[in-house]
Amino acid sequence: MTECIFCKIAQGEIPAEIVYENEDVVVFRDLNPQAPIHLLAIPRVHIASMNDLDNAHAALAGKLLLAAKTVAAQEGIADSGYRVVMNCGEGAGQTVFHIHLHILGGRPFSWPPG
Ligand code: 5GP
Ligand code: ZN
Repeated sequence: MTECIFCKIAQGEIPAEIVYENEDVVVFRDLNPQAPIHLLAIPRVHIASMNDLDNAHAALAGKLLLAAKTVAAQEGIADSGYRVVMNCGEGAGQTVFHIHLHILGGRPFSWPPG
């Protein structure tokens, strides 16, 4: 997906403040943070949305969650609490169609979300 901005970040073609990466996953700071800590965890491979996940992605989906846990500890929000969100589809607020987990922390969060 040459026109996908998150593919370009994963490939180092456009800059981002990367805080963690491994063979499968890249985590970087959100350009428009909604909390003192706001990170995005993406797979290196292009998957447009949650609706496109299938059984072949089971291990990768787990790796995304484990990366979120790792960076929460790294950023010092593991104990204070943090929120992990994946928006699926425009109705839920998805604007970038390369699957990503939001990891938000550093402030209190209300429930239900808006
Ligand atoms: P969504 O609305 O799809 O759930 O989340 C997309 C997120 O990507 C938004 O929070 C937005 O601020 C962030 N974002 C969009 N473009 C860029 C970019 O070029 N760099 C970074 N670091 N974040 C981006
Ligand atoms: Zn992509």
